[in-house]
Amino acid sequence: MYANVELFIDGAWRSAAAGKTLTVLNPATGEAIGTVAHAEKADLDAALAAAHKGFAAWKKVSAHERYRLMRKAADILRGRADDVARLMTLEQGKPVAEAKGETLLGAEIIDWFAEEARRAYGRTIPPRADGVYQLELKEPVGPVAAFTPWNFPINQAVRKLSAALAAGCSVVIKGPEETPASCAALVDAFKDAGLPAGVLNLVFGVPSEISRYLIPHPVIRKISFTGSTAVGKELASMAGAHMKRVTMELGGHAPAIVFADADVDVAVKVLSANKFRNAGQVCVAPTRFLIQKPVYEDFVGKFVAAAKKLKVGDGFQEGVRMGPLAHARRLDAMEALVGDAVAHGAAVETGGRRMGNKGYFYEPTVLTNVPYEARIMNEEPFGPVAVMAPFEDFNEAVAEANRLPYGLAAYAYTRSQKTAAALGGAIESGMVSINHHGLALPEVPFGGIKDSGYGSEGGADAIEAYLNTKFVTLMNG
Ligand code: NAD
Repeated sequence: MYANVELFIDGAWRSAAAGKTLTVLNPATGEAIGTVAHAEKADLDAALAAAHKGFAAWKKVSAHERYRLMRKAADILRGRADDVARLMTLEQGKPVAEAKGETLLGAEIIDWFAEEARRAYGRTIPPRADGVYQLELKEPVGPVAAFTPWNFPINQAVRKLSAALAAGCSVVIKGPEETPASCAALVDAFKDAGLPAGVLNLVFGVPSEISRYLIPHPVIRKISFTGSTAVGKELASMAGAHMKRVTMELGGHAPAIVFADADVDVAVKVLSANKFRNAGQVCVAPTRFLIQKPVYEDFVGKFVAAAKKLKVGDGFQEGVRMGPLAHARRLDAMEALVGDAVAHGAAVETGGRRMGNKGYFYEPTVLTNVPYEARIMNEEPFGPVAVMAPFEDFNEAVAEANRLPYGLAAYAYTRSQKTAAALGGAIESGMVSINHHGLALPEVPFGGIKDSGYGSEGGADAIEAYLNTKFVTLMNG
C-alpha cells in the first residue's frame, strides 16, 4: 500500500542522484513502512534549474488557464481522497476520517486560490496630467522555496503552493520527511492535471541543509515556512540577509478563555475536540485553558471526563478519535514537559503517561495548578496536553492570554456581547475565535503576530505574499 516516495523535479518522479533514502515509519507501530528519497546538492541544483525554467513559462500562462489547471488538480485530488487518506494515516497516524477531511479541504483550498488567480487585480491611479496613465501592476514574485511540516502533510503544503501557483510563481517545496507520501500525492494531482514541467518541484532531505542551500540561492525570490518559532527565526534571518520576501507560520500557545456566563457544555465539547484533534499537534490548538472561578470546577470536571472518554489508537481502527504522536521526538517532548510541570507542583487530573510500548501513543492529559515557571506554561506543547488555570476577572484573563510572546490563535466563550467585543480588541493574536471554532477556512485570514510569525496563508490577502507591485506610468506619445 505504501510506495517509496521519490523527488519530483522538472515534471518527473526520480530517485536522488546519489541514490540515498530515508526511512519512513508508521507512528502507530514504530515500524518501517517505506522510504523517501534524500536530496543532496545535485538534486537541489536540478530542482532550482527546473523552477527557474518553470517560472519563465508559468508567468506567461494566463490567469484563466492557471485557474483551469488548478481546478482540475483539485478534482483529481478529491477523486483520490480515500487512497490519499490511507497513506496519510499510515505515515502520520491521525484517524483516517480526519485524513480524508484534510485531503478534501486541500482540494477546496486549491479551488479557492484558483479563483484568486483570476482576481489578482492591480489598479489605475488618477494622473496629474491629461494623457498620463498610472498603472499599478501585480506580478509574480518569482520561484518560491517552501518548507512544510508533518502535522498536516497536505494542508500545510497546499496553502503555500496554491497561492504561489495562482500568482504565477514556480515552487520548490521541501516536504515533510516523516510524512512524504501524502504530500507527494498532492503534487501528483498537479502533475496529472497537466502542470508544465518545472513549475512545481518537491524535495526531501536534511531540512537544515536544504534551507541553507535554497534560501540564499539567487533563483529563489520568496521563502515560506511553517514550523517552530526557533527555526522560523533562523530562516527569516537568512532570508533577510539575502533580501528575500518571507511568510512565517510559526508556533502558538493558544489561550482558551471561558467566562462564567458561557455555555460550559458547548465550550467543553468544542475545546476538547480541538485540543485533542491530531493528538494536539496543531499550531492553533487550545493550550492554556483560563476558566473564570465560578465555573472552574465544573469545566475541569467535564473536560477531564471528555478526555477520559476519547478512544485513542491506530487511526485505522473504528471509533478511534486520537492517533499516536507523529514521531518519537514528540513523545520525548511530552514526557519532558509533563515531568517538568509535575516537578513544579502541577496536578495530573488525567493522563500524563505514554500508552503501551509500541508506537508513539500518549494519553490525553489535563494538568492543573501549573505555575508560570513551568516550561509548559511558556513553550508550545504541540501534543495532547491541556493546562487549566482559574481567573478572577476580564483583565486578569487578558493579561495572562497576552503574557507570552506567541500570538497565533485565541479562543473565548461568553454569552456577553460586550465581553466578546472587548476581547476581540484586547487579545494580541492573529486569530480570535469566540463561542465556536471558526479558523482555517480557505477564505479567512490564517496567520500569527509576534513570535508566531507574519503573513497570512488564507483569505484575500494570501496571494499578495506571492505578488510584487510594479508601477508603470506612461504618457500618450
Ligand atoms: P523541528 O523544529 O525540528 O521541525 C519542525 C519543522 O521544521 C519540520 O517540518 C522540519 O522539517 C522543519 N525544519 C526544522 N529545521 C529546519 C531548518 N533548519 N530548515 C528548514 N526546515 C526545518 O521540530 P519537530 O520535532 O519536527 O516539531 C516540533 C516543533 O515544531 C513543535 O514544537 C512545533 O512548535 C513546531 N511545528 C509547528 C508546526 C505548525 O503547524 N506551525 C508544524 C510542525 C511542527
